Amino acid sequence: MFQKTALVIDSASENITIINQALRPFNAVLLWAETLKEGLALLAEARPQLVFVASSLPGLAAPQDLLKAIDALKLPAQLVVLEREPDFEAAMSLVVSGVFAVASVPLERAKLAQIAQRALEGQDLLSALLESRPLDGEKELAIHKRLAGHRDMGPLAEAIRALARDLGEGAQVALELAPGLAQASEERSDEGSMFTFEGLSSEKILGAPLVRELSWKGRPLGKILWSYPGGRKPQALDEDALDELAWAAGQAIDLAREFQEATSLASRDPLTGLQNRRAFTETLEREFARAKRHNTPLSLLILDIDHFKSVNDNFGHQTGDKVLKWLGKVLRDTVRVGDAAARIGGEEFAVILPWTDLEQAQILAQRLKDALRASQLPTASAALRPTVSQGIATIESVMINSPEDLIYWSDQAMYLAKKEGRDAIRVATDLPRSGAKIEETPYVFQ
Ligand code: GH3
Ligand code: MG
Ligand code: MG
Repeated sequence: MFQKTALVIDSASENITIINQALRPFNAVLLWAETLKEGLALLAEARPQLVFVASSLPGLAAPQDLLKAIDALKLPAQLVVLEREPDFEAAMSLVVSGVFAVASVPLERAKLAQIAQRALEGQDLLSALLESRPLDGEKELAIHKRLAGHRDMGPLAEAIRALARDLGEGAQVALELAPGLAQASEERSDEGSMFTFEGLSSEKILGAPLVRELSWKGRPLGKILWSYPGGRKPQALDEDALDELAWAAGQAIDLAREFQEATSLASRDPLTGLQNRRAFTETLEREFARAKRHNTPLSLLILDIDHFKSVNDNFGHQTGDKVLKWLGKVLRDTVRVGDAAARIGGEEFAVILPWTDLEQAQILAQRLKDALRASQLPTASAALRPTVSQGIATIESVMINSPEDLIYWSDQAMYLAKKEGRDAIRVATDLPRSGAKIEETPYVFQ
């Protein structure tokens, strides 16, 4: 790794400390310019890899102007815009125009460190690429720069699409990713680059399209299609640039695929394919912070299989495992995209429900209960009909001030459902006012 330089252009000093902290692990030299003029001078002189600019910087009409300055210097630098309460649409159009990420002020160190890591890793790639295969022109550099560092498939696919549109001169563009690529990232959302990924479907393409296959090291990854109104492509169309985009896109998608597989392996429960406890904790922390920040509802549903020990005892451990798998599948099929289902213990599951209040969470719990009753169990014994006890809590409650509180009160509600006879749904507000803690009550066969 070569020595990295980062430049902050910001007239206020409040962001400097936190940027400095976030960059510490990367051993980068940090420079600070207080004015646009000073910033432009340092840009040319120090040739940084990473540039942070305050969107409110006096004299800067639009962050894109700084992008132009960076391009004019032929710098592969990535630009991060610091903005107070960024508007989603505006941030998205900045990212599409080539800004690496929009970070919201007040800055969060962990989030900033993530952005820096992605940007600097992308820079390593770029420099490796530049060494092994000199790029012919500025356009190629621009293409690689816009794709470098997008590790998550959603933002990457968006960037490829936007670039394809820019290069295609009035074309209609569709991006088709090979099966598995889009699907596997369904549950991921990446606040760092402000995109949520919901899978890609190709738009309807009219006329005879211009096609480039996407592949990397012989592995097919999908294709990009351009089509033109009337079926006629513009004469000035730079087909070499389209080739370059396809080449760069193949490389970037393959890297994102590797990253996706690695993170998915580390965050999945192998038996059910749901999120594991570690991923659950991370997702809950992220959603909790987001809900508090935007003042939106968030509920948590915890679910525990009733008498599961007797399933193992009477039908064997293997059948027990089949039941767990089956429950995992029913959960996955029942929750909405965006709800994160996890296996958080042996026979204990949880569903994180963003944008969901208590009433809606209860509806989902009931739907789950119905689905479990209706769904076919993959075992030979008709006598086996497992039920579940469910507990729900929501952050609207005054008692809930942390993700741990949310887990605690959902758990308590679940224990209440157990205590009151199992196969039931209880919410935290059903709990006795005395506040006495309910202990897990072991079931005793009568
Ligand atoms: P309750 O209704 O109170 O929840 O009763 P229970 O029997 O479900 O509760 P308990 O916590 O006493 O037992 C949980 C059982 O789950 C104990 C353990 O044998 C079983 N278990 C935990 N993990 C696994 C697993 O991965 N596979 C299988 N087959 N069983 C598991
Ligand atoms: Mg149980
Ligand atoms: Mg249990």
